[in-house]
Amino acid sequence: MNNKAHHFWNELQDNNITNWEIISIKIGENKCCCGTPIKNIYIIKNNLTNEEKIIGRFCAEKIGLKLSWKTKADYLGNAFLMCRTQKEKEFVRSFQDKLPKWNQSLIISKPQKKWLEDITKHKWKGKTWSDTK
Ligand SMILES: [Zn+2]
Repeated sequence: MNNKAHHFWNELQDNNITNWEIISIKIGENKCCCGTPIKNIYIIKNNLTNEEKIIGRFCAEKIGLKLSWKTKADYLGNAFLMCRTQKEKEFVRSFQDKLPKWNQSLIISKPQKKWLEDITKHKWKGKTWSDTK
């Protein structure tokens, strides 16, 4: 851990980490607020001051900021951004296409859940078909 990161984490913790939440993710080239070059760009916002910062996945996890998507549309939207291959994009897109009809009641299979979680590295909290039996 470099000094800048150390300083940043101390500052965030002093500011009470619970005031910060991840509001969106992008994939691209940027720098974490600790100075490290990152590809998974998390944009975090302080709910009290509206201040926004860019943070990398590693730092976000380190200080205990967890991604939680409120809706399946949000999850799939971000999953689409995180896809690395055309095949993954088509896979995620196929669920996005079902959303207008199914919305929050969309249910997926166990292997599909695993694939989605492989893409996002985050848990799919929705139901899978075997849960309903
Ligand atoms: Zn960092």
